[in-house]
Parts: sequence; structure tokens; C-alpha cells
Amino acid sequence: MSFTSQTGDNCTQVSTQSLTDALKQHFGHNAFREYQESIIQATLNKNDVIAVLPTGSGKSVCYQLPAVLMSGTCIVISPLIALMTDQVRELTQHNVAAACLNSSVDFFDRQEILSQLDQYSLIYMSPETLMDPSLLNHLSRVPISAIVIDEAHCISHWGHSFRPEYRKLAILKKRFPNVPISAFTATATKQVVSDIASQLTLLCPTVVIGSFDRSNLLIRFHECINGNDQLKEFLRAHDNQSGIIYAPTRKKVDEIYEWLIKNKWPAARYHAGLSDTERTAAQTAFITDQSPIIVATLAFGMGINKPDVRFVFHWGMPQSLEQYYQEIGRAGRDGEPAECLCLYSTRDKIMQKNLAKKEADPSICNNLLKKVDQIDAFCHGTECRRVELLRYFGESYAHTTCGSCDNCTDTIEWMDGTIIAQKITSCVYRLRQNFGVAHTIHVLLGSKNHAVVSRGHDQLSTYGLLAMYKRSDVRYFIYALINQGYLIVTEDQYPVLKLTQSARDILFNNKLVRFKKRYETQQKEDALTHDAELFHVLRSERKRLADQMNIPPYAICYDRALKEIATYYPTTRDALLKINGIGEVKATTHGDWILTMVRDHCRSKNILL
Ligand code: ADP
Ligand code: ZN
Repeated sequence: MSFTSQTGDNCTQVSTQSLTDALKQHFGHNAFREYQESIIQATLNKNDVIAVLPTGSGKSVCYQLPAVLMSGTCIVISPLIALMTDQVRELTQHNVAAACLNSSVDFFDRQEILSQLDQYSLIYMSPETLMDPSLLNHLSRVPISAIVIDEAHCISHWGHSFRPEYRKLAILKKRFPNVPISAFTATATKQVVSDIASQLTLLCPTVVIGSFDRSNLLIRFHECINGNDQLKEFLRAHDNQSGIIYAPTRKKVDEIYEWLIKNKWPAARYHAGLSDTERTAAQTAFITDQSPIIVATLAFGMGINKPDVRFVFHWGMPQSLEQYYQEIGRAGRDGEPAECLCLYSTRDKIMQKNLAKKEADPSICNNLLKKVDQIDAFCHGTECRRVELLRYFGESYAHTTCGSCDNCTDTIEWMDGTIIAQKITSCVYRLRQNFGVAHTIHVLLGSKNHAVVSRGHDQLSTYGLLAMYKRSDVRYFIYALINQGYLIVTEDQYPVLKLTQSARDILFNNKLVRFKKRYETQQKEDALTHDAELFHVLRSERKRLADQMNIPPYAICYDRALKEIATYYPTTRDALLKINGIGEVKATTHGDWILTMVRDHCRSKNILL
């Protein structure tokens, strides 16, 4: 974390204690996260701010708390209607007066909001709405406490999603010279940060750049051996939890979705081939936990603010490490542990490369191909994932191991694969390097299927040589040989296995080959050992109430707060207020049912308090 602050001479510090009290009172959090207080102090001192903090790190409170504490209305510029609606709903739950102005708000509501703007602590709007001259005129007549620009990287050509309408925000400093402007983003290189500062003509902004590390995410990469079995095992370990399954194509999304439904997993699906209505319904079902699992292409995720996503499963390698990191960033936004497992295979690399090659501009195409190679190398890497990922994003991790990635936690054992490798390469040779992985496996297993027998491949000397292994093992061995550079899969319409130069060493020089076997160690236990039964009943009641109120369960309170309740058994309002995540407002609106359930549970289980 680097933090620089240039505050004026006349800056006054609000005491940490009173800010912490305000945080508890309005948002229910017991303490600030590391950088939050500095940003809040800077805004209260009317300094401009640029904050680059990863998703889930708690940027919203950094401008919402000052907005509540300062007089006047805070204008928040956000590019996505879904995000605005979500934020406003959450603020309303905390009794903070907030509204949004965008295309989904009709003329009369808009006039009403505008006529009593001073009643609102925060107003969310899109850049287009703000730039409307009559609105700008209206705003110059009312007291504005601060202007916040969310997703501020959109202002820069150098950012990954430049939006021309963001450029127009450059006039804000001239129109509102005395109003502090703060710009927030989750991704910005140094170049983008200075571009944001100069585009917005910020005055000596306080710049806060947080670490990219998301320490609550368990990061795993496994070879795809039998995807369905691997997914089944993964989902079993995450029973009753909410998560996202990313697949590379619409077809694959449909396939996985149907398989999940057949196996009675509560899933929804999302991809660009579905109608707007279907997609909105899927998104709502996911957010409200009606279908806590969603299978989606990369089209899904932007604007999703669900805090309790407990897992992200990648069926196949993403196109780049940037994309991967953004996608796993949707897990564990509430700071609780979440698991991210990516299944990769050489086929994914071929598919991603073929996709990249469709790009007409040669320099963009080369860049995409480079990114595929980088993520492919990362998948096969044996160093700590965190060390490598952070290095990729230009940050150095303070340790050599993290203790929460596959390379740090899984037990890796090596087995001698020399003989197996000889059998496989010789089989590929006997098949004249003319057949794909599936057929080669059939021959090695001694299958009697038509494709094998009709070609006389049951007469080959390598037929049935690996019959003592399971199909998934043989597949694993073949892919390991591909990954170690002894075999390649051609990139044609019908990919076939071919031997590389190095395969000669296996066939003729008895080259020693090793295969990696992984044994997963259990996910780190939650720090809190909560009463699972109480947690479960509280969660069910929360879901029932949320459905009744037509809001997502997390809008009532987070899992983390329920876990704390199921750990400390609060039976009085004061005790409940000590729970992280429960402030005055939540204690008033939801205290009664929570306390009743805790008391009933303690009584029926003879838990003495
Ligand atoms: P970002 O905008 O950076 O992606 P959010 O503002 O949505 O992140 O916050 C992520 C999560 O962290 C939210 O669930 C929020 O309630 C929680 N959070 C924010 N600040 C704190 C805090 N000081 N203590 C505990 N939880 C916090
Ligand atoms: Zn690690």
C-alpha cells in the first residue's frame, strides 16, 4: 500500500474515534479497513482523491460516509444502471437518503428528486445525465458536498474500457471549483492514474493505491481430466453456497446448465444468446439466491455486486490473466473465504489462440496471442500463484508463499512415468500420428469400439497396453506429455496427436519422465467456528424475509454477520450491536427476529449463556 497525501495547511482531522463511531452507526462496520480512513479524511478536508483499490476492498464507504457527514448532496457518476440501483437499495437499507437519475427513472420521479435534491445525501447518475446542460445549471444552484467518479479508468484512453462520455467530465472542476472530486477505480496503471488526474484537472490529489492481493481467495489451477467429475466434486464441497461457473462458449454454458439442472443443482444461466428478459431473470435469480449458482460466459459479471459469492469455477482457461483476475474478483467481496478453481487443458490454449487469430489488426492479434501464452504458462506454473499473479500486475508480494493457492497447499507427489510415456508415444507412432486424443486412449485401454476394431487397431502391438488404468488417468498422462512438450495436438479442424523431437528421447533413449499427482488439502477452515445449525436457521429466515420484501438476502445482512451471531449468541440489542455488520438501523429493523431466533435456539439446545 502506498499512500501520499498533500493536504492544505488548514486541514482539520476528525478524530478516528468519531469517524469509527459514525461508520458503525451508519454502515454497521466495526472498524475501518486500512486505507478507508485516509480517503475519508481527505474528502472531509475537501481534497481531491484518486483511489485505485481492488474489487471488494470497500471503496463505496470511502465516499458514502463523507456524503452522510458533510452538508450538501454528493454526486456519484457511475456507468452502469445495475450498479446504481444496487447501491441505492443498499443505502436505503441503511437509512441513508439516496436516489439515482438515469434512463430508468421517469420524468415525474426525476422532477421530484431534483426539486428536493438537498434532501438526499447521495445522487447517482450516468455521465450522460450529468452533462445535460439544464441539470448542470440546476446543480450549480444547490449545495454539492462532493463529486465522485466511479470506474474512473473509463476516462483514459490507456484504460481497458475507455468511454468517450467520461471525457466530458473534464469540465467539472471549472463548473464546481470548490467541490472536492474523487475518482475510484479497481484497475489503473500509473499512466492511467496520471491521465485521470490531468483529464479531471485535479488539484494535488491524494493518491491511494492499494495492493492487488485478495488474500481471502483460495486460488487453484488443475488440469481438466474429467470436467464433470471435477465440477461435481467442487460443487459438493460448496454445497449451499453461491458461485459462478464460467465457460468459454454459449454451447458449453448450455451443456453445463442442463447437466446441473438434471443433477438438481439450483442453477441459472447467462450468455449473449439469451433474450434480455431471460438474462435479467437469470441475474435476479442469482442475486436473490433463488438460483445461487450461475453458469455464464464472460458476458456475465460487470455490474454484479453480490458480496457473498463463495466460489468461481472456470471451465477452461480464460483469455488472459487480466480477465481471469477480474472474474475471480467477483468472489468473496465480503472478505470471507472464497475458492477459485480453474480447470485448464491444452485444448483451451488452441481454442483461445484460434479466437485471437480472428483479430484483423496484426499488433492486437500478437498481443492477444502473447496473453494466451502467458496465462497458459501460468496454469502450468509451480510457483505460488499469488507471487506470480501480483508480479504480473507489477506488484511484489511480501512473502514467497501465500498458503492459500494450490501450489502452496496441495501435496504434489511425483510418480515415475517413464514406462507409461514409452507406451503412449509408441502408440501415437503406431497410429501414424493420425489420430486424436480420444481414439489413442481407446487403443491404449484396449477398447473394442467400432472405430478401433474396424481400423484393425486392436491388432497393434500397443493395443491395451494401459488397460490397468482408468480412462481419466490415461487422459491425464497424455495431457501431461503434451504439457511437457513430448506430444503436440495439431490445431486443425480434426486435431491429431503428433510426436515432437523430444519424444525420440522417450522412445529411444529411455528418458526419465515424471508425472505430477496432486492431493488436495482441505480448504482453510473459517476463522470463526460457528454453530452451523443456528447459522442455517438464521439464513433460511433471512431468505424468507428477503423474498417477502423483494430484495436480495444480503441486503438484510451478510453471511459474515450471521456467522458471528451464530458464534457469540447475542440475546440483547447491545450484544447484537457488537456484531460486525450490524449498525443501529439493522438492529432496529431486524433485531427482533434475530434475537428471538437466537434465544429460541439456545433454549432448545440447552445452551447456557
Ligand atoms: P468495492 O466497491 O471496492 O468493490 P464495496 O464497496 O462493494 O467494494 O465493498 C465490498 C464489501 O466490503 C461490501 O460487502 C462492504 O459492506 C464491505 N466493507 C466495506 N468496508 C468495510 C469495513 N470497514 N468493514 C467490514 N466490511 C466492509
Ligand atoms: Zn501461494
